[in-house]
Amino acid sequence: MNIFRKTAKILYINQPYYVPAILPSLTRRLCSNIPESNDKVRVRFAPSPTGFMHLGGLRTALFNYLFAKSHGGKFILRIEDTDQERLVEGAMERIYQDLKWAGIIPDESPWNEGPHGPYVQSLRYDIYKQEVKKLMEDGRAYYCFCSERRLDLLRKEAVRLRQIPKYDNKCRDLTPAQIAERLAKNDKFCIRFKLDSKADEFQDMIYGKIVYFLAQNEGDPVIIKSDGFPTYHFANVVDDHYMRITHVLRGVEWQISTPKHIQIFHAFGWRPPQYAHLPLVMNPNGSKLSKRQGDVQLDYYRKRGIFPQALLNFITQSGGGFDRELIDVAGAQMSDLIKHFDIGKINAHSSRLNADLLTQCNREEIMYQLKNSPGQAEALVQEVIRLVRTEFKDNGSLDLDEKHVRDVLEWSVTRIDALQDLVKGKLSFIWVLPQRSKDASVDNDTLKVLAKNLGSEEDIEFTKAEISVFLKAFAERNRIAFELLMKSLRNCLSGLKEGPGVAEMMEILGRDKTVERILLATKRK
Ligand code: GLU
Repeated sequence: MNIFRKTAKILYINQPYYVPAILPSLTRRLCSNIPESNDKVRVRFAPSPTGFMHLGGLRTALFNYLFAKSHGGKFILRIEDTDQERLVEGAMERIYQDLKWAGIIPDESPWNEGPHGPYVQSLRYDIYKQEVKKLMEDGRAYYCFCSERRLDLLRKEAVRLRQIPKYDNKCRDLTPAQIAERLAKNDKFCIRFKLDSKADEFQDMIYGKIVYFLAQNEGDPVIIKSDGFPTYHFANVVDDHYMRITHVLRGVEWQISTPKHIQIFHAFGWRPPQYAHLPLVMNPNGSKLSKRQGDVQLDYYRKRGIFPQALLNFITQSGGGFDRELIDVAGAQMSDLIKHFDIGKINAHSSRLNADLLTQCNREEIMYQLKNSPGQAEALVQEVIRLVRTEFKDNGSLDLDEKHVRDVLEWSVTRIDALQDLVKGKLSFIWVLPQRSKDASVDNDTLKVLAKNLGSEEDIEFTKAEISVFLKAFAERNRIAFELLMKSLRNCLSGLKEGPGVAEMMEILGRDKTVERILLATKRK
């Protein structure tokens, strides 16, 4: 299915929605058979495809997902693409792919439609068109013919008088005859929602009671633009209702819009969902996360070898949402996050990401995969093999048997931040077999004895410190200058002049590979 298919724009441009007392009464309550009561939690993540997903968006999606799953509910992905001017090609697919990568799998989405679709707003224009008629018939919405020029003058005048710029609701008072006349002349119009002037109050699940005087601060908002498209506010409310959303968890930047949304719900006679606004998460330096900032986009982390679960754990480190005594969030799995997510524990103030925790979370995730999940451990081994092949593709002799890779992973797991670290600079000797000609400073027989001793003396723990002691004793016993032995061994193990110390290389390679490489060197010419 091509979900980018656009509805014919032209269809709606300047076509009357409702002409009071002139057109016959229009079909009402088209979709009103949908019951109001929702026994199951249903939440949605509703991104606009105006850019790629960043950490803030990922956190909103994650918290929605955790809330749904911890209540046995459904997580829905809805694409809010009413602002056609700002669409970014490919963003919608990328958002979905990013969610899948992160393991936040929607129960309903444009890619797996449920019973309340379509899940892309640009495919729902018929629904908005029908819904707005209801508000017009009930006198809660009206045609506005004010020109851009007039609105601009109003704004300038307000600025001059140091007042809040707002629409003066002039077209509220047009008579049916005046409206019919303007429509007959094909005058350009938009549709506005008539705000109620009483105080707006709602209970925010995170911030508590919010009281706002909407009508004092703004004029009647546009709900259908002059091009026939709905505004975000209108489409958002209609969709939340028809998709039976029970709880809206979204960024705090939307909190100011919530009274408006609740008024629209009430105007329809619908029950609004419960709202929870998530405080901002900010960069470690306190600046805002932005879609345009490269290092907040998911791809940046993916390319660095950060695992999805590590990234999720990283973003849940700041801002609360969990009982820290019950869960070690840095090493958590999705099931732990679901089990211990507690919306009541989300802080009602903004928080900063702690950059240092990202690598810790990634290390813990690698460790988890290696130790607790045979399938994932195998996938790690294959990934390392892939990375090595990509990095050293011109090199014919790579040491890549699976046991070796796994041993290296075991050794490295507390030392690396990402798998990529294993193929960088100093560690290349792990994978690339030495190819230089043999070093003659220590004879083959001595090297063979050394290999035999290393292989058989099980009481030498194969750590840098113990290997060092062993090598010193071996040099003394065999009357070889220690430096010469080291030079020769370095040649056997890596064939490189530089790199980690010899004992350290041995520790990294492990006993079997060390013995194997020394013996291999004795066969080189
Ligand atoms: N489309 C809005 C956004 O891009 C969604 C806001 C909401 O969740 O209501 O964030």
